[in-house]
Amino acid sequence: MSAALRPVPRPGVLAIEAYVPGKSAAPAGVRLHKLSSNETPLGPSPAAVAAAQETTGHLALYPDGSAQALRTAIAAKYGLDPERIVCGAGSDELLSLLTYAYMGPGEEGLYSQYGFLVYRIAILAAGGTPVVAPERDHTADVDAILRAVTPRTRIVYLANPNNPTGTYLPFDEVRRLHAGLPGDVLLVLDAAYAEYVRRNDYAAGLELVAESENVVMTRTFSKVYGLAALRIGWMVAPAAVADAVNRIRGPFNLGSAAIAAGAAAVADDAHVAAAVAHNEAWLPKVTRAIEALGLAVTPSVGNFVLIHFPEAAGRGAAEADAFLTARGLILRRVGAYGLPHALRMTIGSAEANEAVVAALGAFVAGRSDA
Ligand SMILES: *Cc1c(COP(=O)(O)O)cnc(C)c1O
Repeated sequence: MSAALRPVPRPGVLAIEAYVPGKSAAPAGVRLHKLSSNETPLGPSPAAVAAAQETTGHLALYPDGSAQALRTAIAAKYGLDPERIVCGAGSDELLSLLTYAYMGPGEEGLYSQYGFLVYRIAILAAGGTPVVAPERDHTADVDAILRAVTPRTRIVYLANPNNPTGTYLPFDEVRRLHAGLPGDVLLVLDAAYAEYVRRNDYAAGLELVAESENVVMTRTFSKVYGLAALRIGWMVAPAAVADAVNRIRGPFNLGSAAIAAGAAAVADDAHVAAAVAHNEAWLPKVTRAIEALGLAVTPSVGNFVLIHFPEAAGRGAAEADAFLTARGLILRRVGAYGLPHALRMTIGSAEANEAVVAALGAFVAGRSDA
């Protein structure tokens, strides 16, 4: 055995910058408001919690590998064929599985400039090449994406609305994007924040999935459903795509608690409506209050806002982040997205939102006593 020999990862693996989750720590003794991962301040449906607790009596048994109860509940809610639904350990897992199934070395995955970073990680992990299309006004640009398509493009990823910008494409633009893609390119519509969008020209993409052979929509239980800890996502896909992903996924990729809680959560429309109403009330209030402080806010349709700080020394995003963290207000730095002068703030409880606005006011005014 030679000491000089050691296992070497495939090319691409060591090029990956690991995803850095939102912070969740505050200084000792300070009340913490975690506004760094777009979780809901309302928490999960009580019915989902009860369903998850129920499963703790059977922890020795493997879960149902087909997540039948969850797929049936989702299919009933959206009028879908349960055979076209695949569940994942969060939609992140499905984004990875789609990439592993459809992309390999020498092939390209395409996403837009400020697109969700998990796409890049999945592409590199599959040995593929990330290709980035420029955005306009922090919004995906269909023409730029179509210009970046090459014969090697396998997947186009579009978060709609996008994280971390909060911007969205109207459905006719999504249709135009799809119409411009070759039929062998998979279009992945990541609709993690679909429930929050209140725009008549928005659609998550169900119709497009139903009428095409190359469109997939992914959804998550981590955001409006308040079940991020359980890791539950799903996708609806053409039969051939669902089949490919089912072949490579772990046979028991969702735990029993996730399956049970997800099925109960989907059925609790009132709880989702309450979370959406809370966001609808606070998103404009927070946006206007922060703009009134002289900071630019990207118009968002999600449950978070991107706040832009001046580049001047001492007044920037890094200083603002430190100022807020010292007060127990945890926002998200987005330098990894090429946005070093911005912070992303999740819409939180009334108390949290008011605390951030007050603290930002003090920061902008240069006061440290607040
Ligand atoms: C949060 C988020 C997801 C989902 O994550 P999971 O917790 O893995 O389901 C997917 N896409 C975007 C754009 C997100 O912001």
